[in-house]
Amino acid sequence: MQKQELLRGLPKIDEVLRQESLVMLAEEKGELIVTDAVREVIAARRSEILELLEETAELFDVESISIGRIAADAEELVDKKERKKLFPVINATGTILHTNLGRAPLCKDALDNVAEASRGYSSLEYNVAHGRRGSRHDLVGELIKELTGAEDAMVVNNNASATMIVLATLGKGKEVIVSRGELVEIGGSFRIPDIMKESGAYLTEVGTSNKTKISDYENAIMTKERAEDLEYGELDRGMERFETGALMKVHKSNYDIIGFTEETSIEELAALGKKNDIPVIFDMGNGLMMDMSEYGLREPTIPASLQAGADVVLFSGDKLLGGPQAGIIVGKKEYIKAMKEHPLARALRVDKMTFAALEATLHKYRDPKVALRDIPVLSMIASGSDVLRDRAERLADAIKKVNKDAVCEIVEVEDQIGGGAAPSVRLPGFAVYVQDGNKSADRTERKLRKAEVPVIARINDDRLLLCVRTVADDEIELIAGALR
Ligand SMILES: *Cc1c(COP(=O)(O)O)cnc(C)c1O
Repeated sequence: MQKQELLRGLPKIDEVLRQESLVMLAEEKGELIVTDAVREVIAARRSEILELLEETAELFDVESISIGRIAADAEELVDKKERKKLFPVINATGTILHTNLGRAPLCKDALDNVAEASRGYSSLEYNVAHGRRGSRHDLVGELIKELTGAEDAMVVNNNASATMIVLATLGKGKEVIVSRGELVEIGGSFRIPDIMKESGAYLTEVGTSNKTKISDYENAIMTKERAEDLEYGELDRGMERFETGALMKVHKSNYDIIGFTEETSIEELAALGKKNDIPVIFDMGNGLMMDMSEYGLREPTIPASLQAGADVVLFSGDKLLGGPQAGIIVGKKEYIKAMKEHPLARALRVDKMTFAALEATLHKYRDPKVALRDIPVLSMIASGSDVLRDRAERLADAIKKVNKDAVCEIVEVEDQIGGGAAPSVRLPGFAVYVQDGNKSADRTERKLRKAEVPVIARINDDRLLLCVRTVADDEIELIAGALR
């Protein structure tokens, strides 16, 4: 056929839209969307034809411009455009708080509560018992107080926001003293000195990278009177000095300093803060609520940090707490009150879905055994080697059943907490090492990623590993299916 003939043979948009399948699709998805898809498919066919040489026009697949084919392609296009950018994946890396994979998976009750509280209206800011306006700050306040022993609590968008509002409230126009060993970068341009600047607080660095003593903080404290009295010539840094607003400790979440080291404890800082009437802030980050030292996690807990005397403690909701993304601030009532009244509070406030997930997660902590059983992050940390080995064996069997070329071997691995928490903790775990025929590890890794539910694996020394600590039992068949 000639080009002109082919072009004339292209169906009209209306003709295609009358196809039964598209009429139904338009009812569900909207006429505009289906019409656009048909127009796009026809336009693509037209340009294909225009690019043909007269000699090759003969070879053109005439069937591809039939009404039926164009309708089918339009249907596929609608489907493709609706494919979600945010979808589930299977984490077979053995890293529990994988930042790129969404950090903490939520427990079932948290998920149910999100659906429950957001499907219709909710008590987000309404006090049902008294029939009047309520505050979202009260939703989890009591529960957090009960669990941590804090006087009051507040929830913001994430721990970065929490740091921002704490510093803006307690440190604006004042100096905040931080150890040089704790001027950390959490990742993605979140650096303590930069946040400090943004909040309007002045950073006063003390100590050295490896050693900071309580006397370093003590010598740096600036009272209002002294700050005002200082003559320019007397200033040690040739800079203006301001009253000290807070002493701040930042948890070394994502790095360790080993060797000849010394850091100041919260107890020491609290005593110094108390003597000088200056609040002590602890940016704790990980949000560990209960003692997990039995599993190798020798980290401070939230209640212990408050017990030690910190006036304000802040942490993430989606690290070791195992809840939704959030920043939780606990501590002395007067400070929390000032933060709730700060203009940033409105800018950083969280949605009902977050409160719903957080409340359900926090309830678990009323019994540590329940928390350990039901909160995925904690149960993954606590998984014993029997459970892990058994899961690895079941995964290997499932793979061998569907892929005769695959050679599987159970190997010991070291899993990690990840997510910038407990960087030196290694959890002894198990993985299935898979050799799929003569395919390279990279090729198998790509194949796994292209599965319907993509599987993210680990490659170690050119060996493909499926680490089972972060794999749920109902994901085993899916992983095997991906290797079919
Ligand atoms: C993780 C972390 C943050 C940032 O928390 P996000 O919830 O990711 O915003 C801040 N400070 C410390 C010490 C952390 O560990």
